Amino acid sequence: MSQKVRVRFAPSPTGPLHIGGVRTALYNFLFAKKHNGVFCLRIEDTDQARYVEGAEDYIKETLAWLGLEPDEGPGYGGEFGPYRQSERKEIYQKYAGELLKRGKAYYAFDTQEELDARRKMEAERGNHTFKYDAYSRKEMKNSLTLSDEEVGKRIAAGEPYVIRLLVPENDTVTFEDLVRGQVTFETSELDDKVLIKADGMPTYHMANIIDDHLMEISHVIRGEEWLPSTGHHVLLYKAFGWADSIPHFAHLPLILKPNGKGKLSKRDGAKFGIPVFPLEWNGNNELDHFPGFREYGFLPEAVINFLAFLGWNPGTDEELFTLEQLCEVFSLDKIHKGGARFDFEKARWYNHQYIQQTDDGELASLIRPMLKAHGLNPSRDFLVKVCGLLKERCHLLSDFWENGAWFFEEVKEYDLENVKKRWNTELKGHFDKLIAELDSMQSFDAPGLESKVKAFINENGLKMGQVLPLLRIALAGTMKGPGVFETMEVFGKSETLARIKKAVALFGGITDQ
Ligand code: GLU
Repeated sequence: MSQKVRVRFAPSPTGPLHIGGVRTALYNFLFAKKHNGVFCLRIEDTDQARYVEGAEDYIKETLAWLGLEPDEGPGYGGEFGPYRQSERKEIYQKYAGELLKRGKAYYAFDTQEELDARRKMEAERGNHTFKYDAYSRKEMKNSLTLSDEEVGKRIAAGEPYVIRLLVPENDTVTFEDLVRGQVTFETSELDDKVLIKADGMPTYHMANIIDDHLMEISHVIRGEEWLPSTGHHVLLYKAFGWADSIPHFAHLPLILKPNGKGKLSKRDGAKFGIPVFPLEWNGNNELDHFPGFREYGFLPEAVINFLAFLGWNPGTDEELFTLEQLCEVFSLDKIHKGGARFDFEKARWYNHQYIQQTDDGELASLIRPMLKAHGLNPSRDFLVKVCGLLKERCHLLSDFWENGAWFFEEVKEYDLENVKKRWNTELKGHFDKLIAELDSMQSFDAPGLESKVKAFINENGLKMGQVLPLLRIALAGTMKGPGVFETMEVFGKSETLARIKKAVALFGGITDQ
């Protein structure tokens, strides 16, 4: 690639960043790194009405959590700033002036009432999609139909106006999309988009194009929902005289609901019991509260790997890639055209894989906050060992608690159904003897415990199935869980014996009833 690769992630801070937006950030990041390019963050906050406090911080926290730190952006440095559009208002004004001078844009004074009246009139004519376009602009109140003098007067009098793009008549706009191939629009399909609003702020189209040009963006990689706008964008580049430096476009496929039916929306989180945001979001009202992948117990590495494969794959059977590896293998030509189904089971599978690869000490640090929230503060040494025992069965970090709370607090509930099936008074004597034997052991390691308990079972004419399940229930309350001898080792002698004694007393009481 001869041109310097510069890409941007350009979210609008209108609420929590949807997981689809995170995928867009990821693909931009991967593409930039693959080509030794630059990954910029640009905050598109020109729509004051939709601006939400905290949304920019949320975006930055998400990128930091996932390791997708921008090279340039607000708070990150860079020579092309400011990177917040609300701080670039004068720039857009200046370029709007350019377009007016070139005769590529015009003032429009139509009030909301006039536009509504026109819409109604068109509807009465059977035309339900009124467009301010080459046809209707000739009958509206704008600098194409009013005299220069009249226009000057209205502006001087402070009358509100917008500036619109003059879409050329009977023309065709064509561009090559790196995912979708050639895309063509007839200008008759395109309306004269507002570029500068009555409040003096630019619209998305205007600010986006000017910034992409001034920030020397080489590739625009964004969601498919922006494909219909790209016709206007290409026209804008041409109108400015920037036809030679139009960036390459790559429109990413939609992310579909888990059932494959339609686009994944933020409401699908509650509907399908899945996270659709990267981090927890707490808005101003009760309904504006969403859990995130992080709070569900996902590791950032798993989210990265899962999202990378949501609309792309390397063309091999390999599925596990770190961020660094993805930076090497990623390419735009392997992005799929069709929508990508959000498969939550797959996300869990990835997380399981990464939990196995994560060092026990790191897992211990990750799950300690969860234990603290339950008022528990086990020693580091114990916690690290428990993580090592439990991880094989965990898909989410929260599973460490779901599957192993009994490690950290006393058993809350015993599997009494199995106790009733297996316990008898005769066993009481055996268990008392076993307790005494365990108590006499010098070291308390899993292999030693295993030979000791098995020898005891044989010597007393018992069966494994009579003793081991009960031992397990005594320690954990349940028959599920890591190996019984490993568990005993991690608990150590005194906790192990205390649990067995307590359980034996309880089992006796239950079966006597
Ligand atoms: N601000 C737009 C968004 O919120 C950016 C679209 C684009 O990348 O051009 O997604």
